[in-house]
Amino acid sequence: MIVFENISKTYGKNVKAVRNLNLHIEKGEFVFVMGDSGSGKSTLIRLLLKEIDPTSGEITVDGENITAMKRSRIPRYRRKLGVVFQDFRLLRDRNVYENVAFAQRVVGTSSRQIRQDVPKLLTRVGLSAKYKAFPNELSGGEQQRVAIARALVNRPDILLCDEPTGNLDARNAWEVMRLLEEINEEGTTVVVVTHSQEIVDQMNRRVIIMNRGDMIDDSLESGDEA
Ligand code: ADP
Ligand code: MG
Repeated sequence: MIVFENISKTYGKNVKAVRNLNLHIEKGEFVFVMGDSGSGKSTLIRLLLKEIDPTSGEITVDGENITAMKRSRIPRYRRKLGVVFQDFRLLRDRNVYENVAFAQRVVGTSSRQIRQDVPKLLTRVGLSAKYKAFPNELSGGEQQRVAIARALVNRPDILLCDEPTGNLDARNAWEVMRLLEEINEEGTTVVVVTHSQEIVDQMNRRVIIMNRGDMIDDSLESGDEA
């Protein structure tokens, strides 16, 4: 479903963030992306979001070449994707309910549908009792679960997570990982950038390792996946 074909991304004249990357991710897969800071992980996420375009190569998602995609098509393409960041990125002046509902309002979902979907999603992430709370009244783990609910409310096929547990303590990190695992079991393709060797070791999923723009390991290829 996601194909990177000979992808390179150079920022400015000579910052080679990603070099000649070839990668296939199947529908329904759960993939970790690891690597030191600056190795190109967020660049991969931004390429998929079409926030940036590759310097060379082609990216295909669901059979559609997104590199050649018309601008007018981008908003609809992005609805296939949910995204979660390390720093949550919630709207500070809106409560939990409105943070999730907002993602539906911007794509023109009916109020009736929003009233159905938002409580369901908040129950799903274990936050139905906190729907009126504001982000600053929530723990980091709770804020991240709101962000996950928001990422899922438009029913994306792919969930992209850039260090989703980077700001969380171990217990909250595991709660978030369990949630991502459940979401994947329900059929969503999940890509998770992480620094946590412990999480990667315990989850036993495909792991891609980036180093200075090169993919230096893929557990699927090297066969050390369980
Ligand atoms: P990671 O997420 O693995 O830390 P990034 O993909 O953010 O790595 O960055 C890869 C490389 O590209 C780094 O050297 C970083 O400094 C550089 N880089 C990232 N974004 C930009 C940008 N907008 N302009 C210039 N250089 C950038
Ligand atoms: Mg990054």
